[in-house]
Amino acid sequence: MDKKIETFLEWIKTSNRIVFFGGAGVSTESGIPDFRSVDGLYNQKYDYPPETILSHTFFRSHAKEFYKFYRDKMICTDAKPNITHIKLAELEACGKLTGIITQNIDGLHQKAGSKAVYELHGSTLRNYCEKCHQFYPVETIISSKDVPRCEKCGGIIKPDVVLYEEGLDNSTVKNAIYQLTQADMLIIGGTSLSVYPAAGLIDYYQGNRLVLINKSTTPMDSRADLFIQDGLGNVFKNIELD
Ligand SMILES: [Zn+2]
Repeated sequence: MDKKIETFLEWIKTSNRIVFFGGAGVSTESGIPDFRSVDGLYNQKYDYPPETILSHTFFRSHAKEFYKFYRDKMICTDAKPNITHIKLAELEACGKLTGIITQNIDGLHQKAGSKAVYELHGSTLRNYCEKCHQFYPVETIISSKDVPRCEKCGGIIKPDVVLYEEGLDNSTVKNAIYQLTQADMLIIGGTSLSVYPAAGLIDYYQGNRLVLINKSTTPMDSRADLFIQDGLGNVFKNIELD
């Protein structure tokens, strides 16, 4: 077996407060595209780039067009958890992993059975009336036409997703930081770590078992105690728990 994988497995065996920090690469193996990487493709079909459509200003001014893109590209209810989601849920169930901090909004970690999931960018599965805060499931968004409205008060329903120009949820960030300060092993996967807030949050980890798994090199490689240049599934499939 590859020496780096061996070290990875040995560290998992001897750690008890593992934290996983994941990005889009965790979900691409479930067929969910990283919209940032296919910008050009979407530009052919939409009048604005995804970064514009998914901004707070655009949601306020062009809610109908926002929802056209959002329904088409951001909601992926058919996607299933992959081997990485499943192994992470198993690590939590057997008491080794204390939390997952994710930049993804697809809810796949919870689908795999994970409980302690900190969703930095929210979730497409949760939606709220902006006026009365009535909760709506993703099905309401899918089945509605144009701009979904609250059946109680008529207010606009907004996904519980952090749009561009919006700040992160304070309590989610607080919990994520707490997890990182308590961790004895930190696994970072599927993110290039080139964008805020990922790079900044990672500094809260003070241990010496920082594992970075990514297909390509990232600006953080030199900070990692172990850098495995591979797909997440290829690495996580080696984890065997008794
Ligand atoms: Zn309402």
